[in-house]
Amino acid sequence: MVADVRNLIIIGSGPAGYTAAVYAARANLNPLVIEGAQSGGALMTTTEVENFPGFPDGIDGPDLMDNMRKQAERFGAELLTDDVTRVELAGDVKRVWVGDTEYQAKAVILATGSAWRPLNVPGEQKLLGHGVSSCATCDGFFFRNQHIAVVGGGDSAMEEATFLTKFAETVTIIHRRHEFRASPIMAERALKNEKIKVIWDSVVTEVLGADKVEGVTLRNTKSGEESTLDVTGLFIAIGHDPRSELFAGQVAIDDEGYVRAESPTSRTDVTGVFACGDLVDHSYRQAITAAGTGCVAALDAERYLASVE
Ligand code: FAD
Repeated sequence: MVADVRNLIIIGSGPAGYTAAVYAARANLNPLVIEGAQSGGALMTTTEVENFPGFPDGIDGPDLMDNMRKQAERFGAELLTDDVTRVELAGDVKRVWVGDTEYQAKAVILATGSAWRPLNVPGEQKLLGHGVSSCATCDGFFFRNQHIAVVGGGDSAMEEATFLTKFAETVTIIHRRHEFRASPIMAERALKNEKIKVIWDSVVTEVLGADKVEGVTLRNTKSGEESTLDVTGLFIAIGHDPRSELFAGQVAIDDEGYVRAESPTSRTDVTGVFACGDLVDHSYRQAITAAGTGCVAALDAERYLASVE
């Protein structure tokens, strides 16, 4: 069964989706936000957010997202807490399915975010937010004068390790090979930094600690030898997977899985389809940047809808 053709469907309920919803609802577009089975996005998994402007004392991630949700609802956004299972985005009428139910709209905003790649080792999930982090920009400040580690060997790992030296006493990069994949200039900058040490040919096999990180167990990939490294923080920088599978073959997606948006707009290569937040963002991946591009997407959708009326 299909309800009427709506103006706008927003897929995703992180800072990008909710910000798009606030703007679209205030523009009288009556958006339907399909939030995902778990509403609120990545910040639902964190405690204190100290860098979202407007909260001088910080705010808990779930509280921030609850505020955004209420703000979207207040202006009339309709919320559906479920996963989109299929989309057909070509043509003037976009089709979006949640199981067997089909929704149609003239415009769609994609805001499904991006998942950081976990190590999948014991202790990692339990200590997430208690010493384990996927974001140096977000959490570096909490590790002043501590001994911490970064896992990874690409540009992001080098950037995070170098950034973390502003706070930490030492930063140990743990890398599974004997050479970094990072660009030479990034690797050199990290290796020259006196606070950075490297443990080569090693993988983390366990994150240790009852309620906060106290160390990690390592295994040498060549000798098989096990050792322990005493650290109070572990930053995981082995990559991100944008949640774009649902849109594969429908909108242009780049080699790394990010939906291509015509920056500085949110336009994809399909008319009437806009994308925002971490789903399109290789480099910043912050709540405020996601909210910013969510706003852009709503304004782009509004202008598009005005042009087809
Ligand atoms: P997300 O927040 O990831 O939201 C994506 C949404 O899409 C979710 O609601 C999900 O349910 C939905 N979705 C996915 N698939 C489907 C589907 N099939 N159908 C419907 N919906 C779907 N940033 C900061 O600025 N400050 C911080 O302190 C900070 N701390 C962080 C701590 C942690 C642990 C993590 C993981 C991230 C942190 N970040 C922080 C980064 C920030 O959370 C992200 O940059 C931001 O949430 C991205 O927003 P988004 O809306 O693009 O995506």
